[in-house]
Amino acid sequence: MAHFHRLPGPIADIWAWQHRGACRDRDSAQFFHPDGERGASRGRRENAAKRVCERCPVRAQCAAYALSTREPYGVWGGFTEHERLQILREGWSGELDVRGLEARLTTPSR
Ligand code: SF4
Repeated sequence: MAHFHRLPGPIADIWAWQHRGACRDRDSAQFFHPDGERGASRGRRENAAKRVCERCPVRAQCAAYALSTREPYGVWGGFTEHERLQILREGWSGELDVRGLEARLTTPSR
């Protein structure tokens, strides 16, 4: 007998959060760095992207997606690629508490 309850849900459910993202109709260049971008201009672009993420209703899902897939580029869930690497290095257990993750980034390492 087949165990249909063990099959994964529809793929659309997994991605549905993206349709509610605050960045949906924005230029993706705000979230992904162009070739050669460095220093102050990179910081300004990332901070602008983070401000969009701060008011995004699906921020937690976005951050969890980027961390779980080891997304290598861009600002996702309000975290830069560098910040996501730091979170992963220190250990990420799948939690959706983005404020908790932010607090970890600002707390000096023990
Ligand atoms: S958290 Fe940021 S990158 Fe993720 S969907 Fe929302 S606005 Fe877009």
